[in-house]
Amino acid sequence: MTRERHDAQVEMGLDAGSDVRPCPRLGGKVALVTGAARGIGLAIAQRLAADGADVAINYRSSDPQVVGNAIVSVECAGARADAGVVTKTRAYRADVSDHEEVGRMFEQAMSEFGRLDIMVANSGITRDDLAVRMETQSFMDVIETNLLGAFICAKEAARAMLRQRSGRIVFVSSIAGLDGNAGQSNYAASKAGLVGLAKSLARELGSRGITVNVVAPGFIDTDMTRALPDEMRDSCIARAALRRVGLPQEVADAVAFFASEEARYITGQVLRVDGGLTL
Ligand code: NAP
Repeated sequence: MTRERHDAQVEMGLDAGSDVRPCPRLGGKVALVTGAARGIGLAIAQRLAADGADVAINYRSSDPQVVGNAIVSVECAGARADAGVVTKTRAYRADVSDHEEVGRMFEQAMSEFGRLDIMVANSGITRDDLAVRMETQSFMDVIETNLLGAFICAKEAARAMLRQRSGRIVFVSSIAGLDGNAGQSNYAASKAGLVGLAKSLARELGSRGITVNVVAPGFIDTDMTRALPDEMRDSCIARAALRRVGLPQEVADAVAFFASEEARYITGQVLRVDGGLTL
């Protein structure tokens, strides 16, 4: 191969060692995605696998068939990334708000995959009500899963990444965490907390080559939003500049960017993926 051809292939993201075989952009990387048996988390796991990463899928209460289907779909996404590469996928049950369960999950994943390059804290719940009526327990449940859970997972991930002196942490927040939302004081507080957490971790971990960023989705078509009244969905569509709800894959695309080499000089940032709902 000529020097010019080698340089051109590298520039195009192709494997310089062969004639045309594409080099998956996350080839050789290992990712762990929480809440990845369904919804946005599953789309993220599929997308990272399609980019060549081996993926550990976390779930909490999804039934075995749902988890089994998720594993197969992530493996298929990985197999399509490059005919010559088969990505590895494993699933781990853990409640992200439980220190011991999360500790065991990271230990098992590290022993099976040998390293951790990308951690996406995606798990989340809602317990909507007006603040004046909200039970303290509803507030705490949401904070524990959405914020404490992300902190526990980020702490475990950072320990592995610090040893490697590189890594990507991505939190899945929400536009509710940036702008607030009536009826979601608990959820908005937990999602706003992720922004402060990400910016602090970005400052703490940046010198070791670890970036920490946040994706803030708007109204995305998943089980979470299918439970909402039709009027709310219609109102979001009417207010969004792009006049439609988002797809889980569109959030996954943003996460994949933060996880990629192309985002190496971006940390502590929040990216809205909301179709222009909050301009
Ligand atoms: P979803 O379909 O309801 O899925 C929620 C996921 O979180 C499930 O995979 C669930 O796992 C997992 N989870 C919940 N509690 C958990 C726990 N304690 N430990 C581990 N996993 C847990 O929701 P989604 O729409 O995909 O949402 C994914 C993320 O995006 C959430 O953080 C959500 O707040 C955020 N988000 C969603 C939207 C939207 O419009 N859909 C908008 C903004 C932000 P199991 O099923 O196995 O329990």
